[in-house]
Amino acid sequence: MKKEIIIAGAGLVGSLLSIYLAKRGYKVSIYEKRHDMRKETMTAGRSINLALSDRGLLALERVGLVEEIKEISIPMTGRYIHNIDGTTAFQPYGREGQYINSVSRAALNMKLMDHAENQGIKIYFGQKCAAVDWEKNTITVESTSSASISVVNFDILFGSDGSFSTVRLQHQLQHHKFEYQQYYIDCGYKELTIPPTASGDFAMKINALHIWPRKDYMLIALPNMDKTFTCTLFFPFEGETSFSKLNTPETIKAFFERTFPDAVELMPDYVSEFLNNPMSSLVTIKCYPWIREDKFSLIGDAAHAIVPFFGQGMNCGFEDCRILDELIDEHDGNWKMILKEFQSTRKPDADAIADLAVGNFTEMRERTADPKFLLQKKIEAWLHEKHPDKWIPAYSQVTFKPHIHFADAFRNAMKQEAIMRSVMTIQNIEERWRSEEVEKMILSKL
Ligand SMILES: Cc1cc2nc3c(=O)[nH]c(=O)nc-3n(C[C@H](O)[C@H](O)[C@H](O)COP(=O)(O)OP(=O)(O)OC[C@H]3O[C@@H](n4cnc5c(N)ncnc54)[C@H](O)[C@@H]3O)c2cc1C
Repeated sequence: MKKEIIIAGAGLVGSLLSIYLAKRGYKVSIYEKRHDMRKETMTAGRSINLALSDRGLLALERVGLVEEIKEISIPMTGRYIHNIDGTTAFQPYGREGQYINSVSRAALNMKLMDHAENQGIKIYFGQKCAAVDWEKNTITVESTSSASISVVNFDILFGSDGSFSTVRLQHQLQHHKFEYQQYYIDCGYKELTIPPTASGDFAMKINALHIWPRKDYMLIALPNMDKTFTCTLFFPFEGETSFSKLNTPETIKAFFERTFPDAVELMPDYVSEFLNNPMSSLVTIKCYPWIREDKFSLIGDAAHAIVPFFGQGMNCGFEDCRILDELIDEHDGNWKMILKEFQSTRKPDADAIADLAVGNFTEMRERTADPKFLLQKKIEAWLHEKHPDKWIPAYSQVTFKPHIHFADAFRNAMKQEAIMRSVMTIQNIEERWRSEEVEKMILSKL
């Protein structure tokens, strides 16, 4: 049994991975570039809260953490749509009892770090992994607050240092056939806040993910435990209506009042937040190979960064940890086999969720406000109710069915969408959708 495992990055995935490995008796150390977030005040920036769903929950359950994390989460049972004309609509995510969970990124990360340390894992903060020597199996670690540099041996190294992974670059630069693709979407994002009401309550319906779909862009809001909502504006960088044009209090105010009138009433500080909060970009990263022999793998965003529109980046990274753990059992600690199968299983799934996530941006910003789309969703929910094994809506496969591979969910989603597109062309479908004829037609195409 190999003993010395080094993890680069104590983010969500690195911290959870360390707990899995420590429970198996491995000696694990983590090197984290940032200072200990448990001792610092957080600043606005990269997604304050996240949607945690069944894949992530299953991974947390396997290490006995699910109940504790549920205590700091808020269930969201569906999308609450805010149309521009002031009307609203609620679209359940799944069947009764199915929901996703809004959780604070920082609170979750801090809990995972606490648990990691309770398992005896040493987390070295303010220590940046700067280089890897693949011959000697060492990493060079630089202090972020002094000139100190150290060289550390590893038997196994995991790169969980996020989308812009240094470890991945070290792997890439010393690999003669490394494949790497990155795509930015034309929208970035900025976070804003809806505070509690004067009486200290949530300002909107709590158990929902709020969406203001506006075709080329959208605003969303997720609830927090402190009764605030964190809003995220996904918005083009350039063009007539874009971040580049909203650069004075007057233009920001005019745009928000025109576009999100009901949200503006609830956001007293949105103008200054808009001017002061950072604007971030959204990237998909695909690469291959993730592994080296029996001694290295990328994991989490470092292996597969995806855009957030299916709320699956962290969930997918957590699932990586669970699958890796199952493979350790299956291959009885044979790391060459474990890593080989980890990559062959996870790479197609990661590619699939990356593509599904890009597609879901269009669905969220454009289609959620379209009555035809709402009818389509209604028909799919009806089919699911009648034939739960034959028709599972794509969203449910991704979000509530951890035992369906993302790659299979992707294939099923493509097939179902093609069927639904033809169903939606049936004359008077609005009246006929519950008919035996339509039901038979759909089932015959499956
Ligand atoms: C706007 C937005 C919304 C999102 N919403 C959701 C959602 O609702 N649901 C969901 O499942 N996912 C969501 N995600 C995705 C999710 O944030 C990521 O998938 C998740 O954070 C990945 O975790 P990670 O540990 O792999 O990487 P990270 O969280 O990026 O952690 C990487 C860690 O490595 C450290 N590090 C970096 N470089 C080095 C180095 N050289 N040496 C040492 N340490 C280093 C960093 O400081 C960091 O702590 C969202 C992402 C964004 C941007």
